[in-house]
Amino acid sequence: MGYLYRGSNLVCESCGDTNATKHKCPFGWCRPTALCQNCWSEHKGKWRQLHVDAGCEANSEEYNEKAKHEAEILRNGGYLRCAALTSKRPDKKVKVFFRGQAGDEKAFFMTKEAYHSIPIGALAIIEDYQKFEELEPAQNLDIYSPL
Ligand SMILES: [Zn+2]
Ligand SMILES: [Zn+2]
Repeated sequence: MGYLYRGSNLVCESCGDTNATKHKCPFGWCRPTALCQNCWSEHKGKWRQLHVDAGCEANSEEYNEKAKHEAEILRNGGYLRCAALTSKRPDKKVKVFFRGQAGDEKAFFMTKEAYHSIPIGALAIIEDYQKFEELEPAQNLDIYSPL
């Protein structure tokens, strides 16, 4: 989202006055808010609470936790799910890509059921899926290739 300027003056997002300055999210989660002096003094005391209520604290904690976990998996030689596409093969298996720490990729075919057993956005490694079924290693690392 952009900011509104009148001439070179930043416009306050609360009252529309000019001469606003940007105020950062206390949790570094949402984008800084442009507020004029008046609105800032009004919001200052509850600034932190506003962002707690908006979920910034919870989101950033969850994000940091996930980032930490992700780094740990990669450090330990794990490959993380990074992309997937339903193949055009008759069995309609999903071709799922995993990326390792060096940026190298591995791909496997698996059933839709197995693929959807782990929600999108969650961290998933090859071994997680191997618990559901035997994965078929892909021969070709082109996502559109049925091999
Ligand atoms: Zn204002
Ligand atoms: Zn925030």
